[in-house]
Amino acid sequence: MKLHEYQSKELFRQMDIPVPSGRLVRSSDEVEEALDTITGPPWVVKAQVHAGGRGKGGGVKIVHSLDEAVSAVDILRKTPLVTPQTTQEGVVVHQVLLEEGMDIEKELYLGMTVDRSTATPTMIFSHAGGMEIEEVAASTPELILKEHINPGTGWMGYQARNLAFSLDPVPQPGVIRGLTNVMLKISNLFLDLDCSLVEINPLVITRDGKVVALDAKITIDDNALFRQKDLAALDDPNEKDPLERMAGEYNLNYIRLDGNIGAMVNGAGLAMATMDVIKLAGAEPANFLDVGGGATEEMITKGFEIILKDSRVKAILINIFGGILRCDVLARGVIEAARKNEITVPLIVRLEGTNVEQGREILNGSDLEFLVAKDLAEAAQLVAKQVE
Ligand code: GDP
Ligand code: MN
Repeated sequence: MKLHEYQSKELFRQMDIPVPSGRLVRSSDEVEEALDTITGPPWVVKAQVHAGGRGKGGGVKIVHSLDEAVSAVDILRKTPLVTPQTTQEGVVVHQVLLEEGMDIEKELYLGMTVDRSTATPTMIFSHAGGMEIEEVAASTPELILKEHINPGTGWMGYQARNLAFSLDPVPQPGVIRGLTNVMLKISNLFLDLDCSLVEINPLVITRDGKVVALDAKITIDDNALFRQKDLAALDDPNEKDPLERMAGEYNLNYIRLDGNIGAMVNGAGLAMATMDVIKLAGAEPANFLDVGGGATEEMITKGFEIILKDSRVKAILINIFGGILRCDVLARGVIEAARKNEITVPLIVRLEGTNVEQGREILNGSDLEFLVAKDLAEAAQLVAKQVE
């Protein structure tokens, strides 16, 4: 579960991690009163959406007067925000954070996440922070430094000093203290709140030598929400992908991806394998969708509904393994579901398992236009051909 920047900064504040003073507003009417309480001008106007890359997409603006602030909030609220991390349609901005402007000397990157190769929480630090961090990681990975947490000892002071003293030139002692202090607190916050990511980009050194978290991004491990009830309450349903939200209501495991092949599969492992095979055939899946090992006709209908709502989908691959559920029952379910939803794109079906012959006969005998593949490889090639 992702938190908003303003929510993450509130948690930082509670942990004494320095953040700029700020106020959240929902409309331009609230701007004047909010700015009365914030040091400035200049102020910074920041769209509160879960997508990153806001700086590049016009979602972060520095303003020098009340009028400018009011119109910046107005524009953000009225036009969907498009950033390198959103779709072309963009996302609606419901809330805007107003903050005091900072006089920045240097932008650093500080983050913590679980490194899967070492299976340890890991601090990531770079002196090349700011909006180009992805670029830095890709082209000059040596500028990204890491310190793994040993579960037996926890975060150690020497690790913080390793990172802070890597800066060239070495900063003043006050700045070093500021940095090591933020690192210690981030490691505590990460573990205490069951995070899967804490990211500060940029963590800035101001001209007067303060270390301040200018941005804040926290993701809580969903599997820990049962014991992080206060955090679970911070969930913002507005930010969820509408199709993912719908799938959640139907109890379907659905994740939206970037391609154009809709996929409907029963079983998570099979769904993963199906995505691999689609890619192997040279196409890109539009989604991961696991309708469950014991998928009913109703689940399949709902799966169709969600896939068809996605306008990028140019062909659909149904890959079902009939185990507990027999293939003939499934085939009837697929036909019923296809009838209930108006299907406008080619549909490729691969069936395997109990009563598979009967299942294929039912599909072939229906008046709907299915392409029935004899195995998964053929199914993937057929579906890839539809979008060539
Ligand atoms: P992101 O693009 O979504 O990660 O949004 P950020 O919160 O990281 O802001 C993007 C950029 O805006 C930062 O890298 C800074 O360069 C700039 N920025 C944000 N707040 C301030 C501020 O208070 N003063 C100045 N001068 N720049 C700021
Ligand atoms: Mn940022």
